[in-house]
Amino acid sequence: MDIQTIGVVGAGQMGNGIAHVAAQAGYQVIMQDVADAALDKGLATIQKNMARQVSKGRMSQEDADAALARITGTTEVEQLANCELVIEAATENVELKYRIFEKLSEVTPETTILATNTSSISVTAIAAKTNRPDKVIGMHFMNPVPVMKLVEVIRGLATSDETWEAVEAASVRMGKKTVLSRDMPGFIVNRILMPYINEAVYTLYEGIASVEDIDAAMKMGTNVPMGPLTLADFIGLDTCLAIMEVLHEGMGGDSKYRPCPLLRKYVEAGWLGRKTGRGFYDYSK
Ligand code: NAD
Repeated sequence: MDIQTIGVVGAGQMGNGIAHVAAQAGYQVIMQDVADAALDKGLATIQKNMARQVSKGRMSQEDADAALARITGTTEVEQLANCELVIEAATENVELKYRIFEKLSEVTPETTILATNTSSISVTAIAAKTNRPDKVIGMHFMNPVPVMKLVEVIRGLATSDETWEAVEAASVRMGKKTVLSRDMPGFIVNRILMPYINEAVYTLYEGIASVEDIDAAMKMGTNVPMGPLTLADFIGLDTCLAIMEVLHEGMGGDSKYRPCPLLRKYVEAGWLGRKTGRGFYDYSK
């Protein structure tokens, strides 16, 4: 399959990152979101991130200008009709994703591959909402997309070899290394990462240590670049909670995956991490 134009649904932190690397790889990109404000913010983030790459000598000004010129934004999903590949990166919510894929199934030709960047939701279930389950696949990019090299590829029950090969090739063209996961809750990365983050929140909830000490302990004690609470703020606490809920439900309610009540409280408060200026840390200054 010859992919020339990639549609990206959602202009949030993941969507704008995916649009960025796709345009940088030479694809035409149409980024769609529901609101102009979200779209403008996403486009501004891409500009800012490309300017940083230029200032660090990792990209020429010419290449950045050309890549930016390949990206258009829209609030109408119908504008994705001519894409050979659409990558959905909207909010992590099962019903929302089902609705989006039903709609994508209507507005794109049956040859279009429909990929989801979901962190945890069943690719097989999403595929069942479309008229082409063989062309539905998981393409799980890591945050921040322009920096992180991994794409976790998830084959649903019906995903064809052709779809898998096309998505592998597109990932490689975007400068990524892929790993293949079966379609089980959390796939590889979040099956391991989220219970770890959730346990860090329990450690705080039970008063075992402070936010700073939990992060310092894991950072210095296990040689990871950032502690689990810093990482949770970076990912978004709403996203972390949504993934834990999918794991909990998908594993038959196993209490091992019970989301920490403190994580739920933070989300209720709207303290979602960096993106809202407050999570386990304060980013307002
Ligand atoms: P985000 O909140 O930054 O962005 C979500 C965007 O989706 C928002 O701009 C929102 O307006 C838009 N949106 C909502 N409904 C929409 C619709 N019907 N049509 C089009 N756009 C819509 O969230 P994010 O962190 O970018 O996460 C997006 C997806 O990527 C989720 O599925 C998440 O699980 C996954 N993901 C996140 C991370 C991470 O570290 N944050 C990593 C890998 C995968």
